[in-house]
Amino acid sequence: KGARELMQAINALVLRRTQTLLSENVELERRNTDLNSFAHIASHDLREPLRNLQNYLRFLREDHQLEFSSEALRKLSTMDALVTQSKELIDVLNTYSNIGRMEISTRTVNVDTVVNDVLASLESLIREKGTEIRRPRPLPVISCDPVLTREVFANLLTNALKYTVRDGRWIEIGAIEEPNAPVTFYVRDNGIGIREKHFEVIFRIFRRLHAHDEYGGGTGAGLTIVKNVVERHGGRVWLESKFGEGSTFYFQLQPAL
Ligand code: ADP
Repeated sequence: KGARELMQAINALVLRRTQTLLSENVELERRNTDLNSFAHIASHDLREPLRNLQNYLRFLREDHQLEFSSEALRKLSTMDALVTQSKELIDVLNTYSNIGRMEISTRTVNVDTVVNDVLASLESLIREKGTEIRRPRPLPVISCDPVLTREVFANLLTNALKYTVRDGRWIEIGAIEEPNAPVTFYVRDNGIGIREKHFEVIFRIFRRLHAHDEYGGGTGAGLTIVKNVVERHGGRVWLESKFGEGSTFYFQLQPAL
C-alpha cells in the first residue's frame, strides 16, 4: 500500500511539473508569435514613411535656391544617414520575421555539408582575418531543417570571426554525441569573450555590446534568430565565455532517426 501511495505521489508530481512546463512552452510560443507579427507589421509599415522622409531630405539638400548654411547642410546629411540606419534595422526586422514565419521542414541532413557551405560563403572574411578553422571530427547527420540550420551556423560563425581581434585566431566547430540524446553542436572562438552578466541580453533583438562599427558592424539580430530557430526545433542554446579569452556557443538538435 505504501508503495502504491508513493507511486501516486510521484505521478502527481510529474503531472504537475509537466503541466507547468507545457504552459511555459505555450507562453514562450505566444511571445514568439507576438514578436514575429510585430516585426512583420513594423517592417512593412515603417519602410514607406522612411523612404518618403529620405526623399524629402534629399530634395532639401539638392535645392540650391534654399541656400542652406554649411551647418544646416551637415545636419541634413546626418539626418539622411540616420534614416539609412533605420531602414537597415527594418530590413533586419523583416529578415527576422521571415525566418520566424518559415515552416520548419525537417529532413535528414549532413551537417558537414551545411557547414562547408557556410564556410565557403565566409571565405573572404576568413582569409582577411587569417582565422584557422578547426574541425576535429566530421559532424553528424541529424534531423533538422537544412535552410534554418544553415542560418544558425552562419550567424554563429560570422560572430566568431567578427569578435576576434588577436593574432593566432582560430574557430573550432564540433559536435558532442551521446546515445539517445540530442546532438550538442558547438562553435568555439578565442575572441574578445563576453561577460557573464551579458549572457542573456545578447540573445535579445537589437542588443549589442559594442559601438556600431567597432567590429565590422552588425545589427544585433543574429543571436535572436539562432535562439528562435533552435527553440523551434525543440532544442536550446547556451554559451560559456571568459571575457578577453573567448566564447563557446552550444546548441542542441535531434539526431537522425
Ligand atoms: P550582431 O553581431 O549583429 O551585433 P548578434 O545578435 O549576433 O548581433 O550578437 C549580439 C551581440 O553579442 C554582439 O553585438 C556582440 O556584442 C556579442 N557577441 C556575439 N557573438 C560573440 C562572440 N563570439 N564573441 C564575443 N561577443 C559576441
